Amino acid sequence: MSNLVLVSPIKGWVGPLDEVPDPVFAERLLGDGVAVDPTGNTIYAPCDGTIMTSAKHAVTLRAVCGAEILIHVGLETVALAGQGFVSHVGEGRSVRTGDPLLTFDLDFLALQVKSLISPIVVTNGDEFEILRREQNRETEVGEFLMELKPLKPEAAGEESVIVAEESREVVVALAHGIHARPAATLANAAKRFACDVSLMLEGRRVNAKSVVALMSLGVRKDARVTVVASGADARKAADALVDLIAAGLGEVAERAPVPEVVAVVREETTDPKRIRGVSAAPGIAIGPIAHLKLSEIAVAEKGAGIAHEAAELARALADVRTRIELAAARGDRQRRDILAAHIALLEDPELAEGARCAIATGKSAGFAWRHAVRDYARVLESLKDPRQRERVQDLLDLERQVLTELGGGEMQMQLPRGAILVARELLPSELIAAAECGIAGFCTAGGGPTAHVAILAAGMNIPAVVSAGERVLAIAEGADVVLDADKGELRLETDAGELRELRARIEVRRSEAGVAQRHAREDCFTADDTRIEIFANLGAGAREAAEAVALGAEGCGLLRTEFLFQDRDTPPTEDEQAQQYQAIAEALEGRPFIIRTFDIGGDKPVPYLALPPEENPALGLRGVRTGFWKPELLRAQIAAILRVKPKGQCRIMLPMVSAVAELAAVRGMLADIARERGFDADIPLGVMVETPASAVTTDHLADEADFFSVGTNDLTQYVLAMDRGNAQLAGQIDALHPAVLRLIAQAVRGAKGKMVAVCGGLGGDRLAAPLLIGLGVSELSGPAAGIPALKQTIRELRISDCRALAEKALAEKSAGDVRALLTRFAAETIKEAV
Ligand code: PEP
Ligand code: MG
Repeated sequence: MSNLVLVSPIKGWVGPLDEVPDPVFAERLLGDGVAVDPTGNTIYAPCDGTIMTSAKHAVTLRAVCGAEILIHVGLETVALAGQGFVSHVGEGRSVRTGDPLLTFDLDFLALQVKSLISPIVVTNGDEFEILRREQNRETEVGEFLMELKPLKPEAAGEESVIVAEESREVVVALAHGIHARPAATLANAAKRFACDVSLMLEGRRVNAKSVVALMSLGVRKDARVTVVASGADARKAADALVDLIAAGLGEVAERAPVPEVVAVVREETTDPKRIRGVSAAPGIAIGPIAHLKLSEIAVAEKGAGIAHEAAELARALADVRTRIELAAARGDRQRRDILAAHIALLEDPELAEGARCAIATGKSAGFAWRHAVRDYARVLESLKDPRQRERVQDLLDLERQVLTELGGGEMQMQLPRGAILVARELLPSELIAAAECGIAGFCTAGGGPTAHVAILAAGMNIPAVVSAGERVLAIAEGADVVLDADKGELRLETDAGELRELRARIEVRRSEAGVAQRHAREDCFTADDTRIEIFANLGAGAREAAEAVALGAEGCGLLRTEFLFQDRDTPPTEDEQAQQYQAIAEALEGRPFIIRTFDIGGDKPVPYLALPPEENPALGLRGVRTGFWKPELLRAQIAAILRVKPKGQCRIMLPMVSAVAELAAVRGMLADIARERGFDADIPLGVMVETPASAVTTDHLADEADFFSVGTNDLTQYVLAMDRGNAQLAGQIDALHPAVLRLIAQAVRGAKGKMVAVCGGLGGDRLAAPLLIGLGVSELSGPAAGIPALKQTIRELRISDCRALAEKALAEKSAGDVRALLTRFAAETIKEAV
């Protein structure tokens, strides 16, 4: 085992560490080494190795033999937050001796920082001894600097480990590029590999195990990126991650029921009595203005010792995590998803590393955390994509929570009950705290309708207007206003008559919602006694099922089982699935349970299946076709469903069916499994009507199928030839298009009396309910949160009116015309108009 020779990474004067005017280095708290007073402005690699951390002002390199070398440019340069530095390498990158690592502006730094002396230390000094070192002389880049001798035999063994580097290019086809959710998927997948993994775009390279770093790349649709992996399992990692990116990083158009967010484009108005914004959560509220008064939390820059500050930060992060978990447990699925993303950010390796580096230079935990967070917030703010910019709020929210925790306190908020909260921006945790004070609504100067805080507000039924501009900040504290989030505006003056009318409307809504809640668990009949079953779409586990039952779900109309197959390395086993389905069946307390076999492929890929590359994945291997491509998976799933007790509770539903033969083939498979395993094959088998082919051939399918359920999300995409995930087409891809409605009508007519349900997005839409019922649909399935109101709407309908409405809708020429027709119908027929 040979010694490691380090060459000088920079031109300058080499001196002993003792002369460094910073005890952290002089006392060798970070390790032994030398210090260079630089006259050059670029740091070059002192040996071959892999970049462990690259934080602009400092870089750590792991040599092939395992020695870890920190090169820290100047003292207290962390406070410059990267200003004056250009990094040439990202984390995980393999470098050769003499490769440029970072360049800095020597003159700028000389004016800004305490000292330019740059320590070069071995941070794992317990494994290496410095045999020789250069001192007190001029050095040029590449001249001898230090010689290290490994102390432990096992360190020597590492010399023979070949640090393989694999790189693969892939084009990102995701509609919104690598934004927060796909970044989280990619980072989680990367973390499963031991090797270092980075993602490169146009020469910039970031740690692929970090969500914030991935987002900071700002990868947009059609960008060509490179996955670079180095280490023992590099090849496997590079292959898997490239496949995952090529398959769309698990992006699903309707992954979770998203509360309806009415996006109204903001119009500038000079009307002094009103301020226009964008509706982020519907509703009307009347109340006094209360401004959010939270001053920036002050933090001391200097720490009280590295070990102390590191421990403080770890404690605060753990406490914030617990607090977030508790808040998530009190919320719906939407809130849980958002808060899970916050937890992922809290544990982000880049943020942790940024903070660790700052603490290592003597900063306090709070200063270090703020510095790490703001570094990334600045990068995200500079990105073009507004979705990415909105994630800055999530980062700042975590900054505030951790700083509050470090200060030893809980976030205190005191707001008058019934107030309209006004703020420049509102963070998710602030909204949760404000909701506990009982605010009636909120209006922000900035923000967008797709920010997490907007989604949370919709889930909490808090009317919200965002992006209202600076004028809102000037409204006097306590001024009475009307927040009309239905229209996306704040009214500063309202006459007494209008105010009376608005109060009456709020009262009706409130009492309707109360009535709906009270009757939520009763079976649903129209006013003229036709039974309409209202089911919930489920995607996760038993807990979600129990919540749905509490909200009045009469069963599960669609279990999206592909969720069980996502975010893991291998498919769930038959046993795992059987347990999961059994738990959901029990949470449903015997109510009907429709399990859709996995709809993998298209917009719902799973990495480990490595679906073959396809030109048009939405038209390729997905749904039941994937089941035929991997029959052993479909067989295991069917067997798991057949094991659920009591018999008769479950029904099986097949996605993406386009031919009778597919149904017959699954029937055959079912019979074989039942025979081989001694199960009873008598289980209802249904078809999801989501291809135009299935919609127009229900008469043939009805000979084999026991029931139908229309998936309006996919049916609309295939009928209109518009990608359901394409944001540009979002305004046009409307399930109320007469072409879609005519297909639903045809599907019902052909079904030979077999039950036809709707479980796509239209199934949970109160406005569409009378129309669907008029078309002959007898079961609606949608997001659980909407069930009480949906039932209440249906209780006011008469079948004859619904049929007449459906006739008219089928004759309309556009989705807009149908929507207008339904809105008129609701205003005339339903007490609290939808
Ligand atoms: C649909 O397509 O309408 C449907 C319910 O299935 P998914 O959204 O899961 O594709
Ligand atoms: Mg579908």
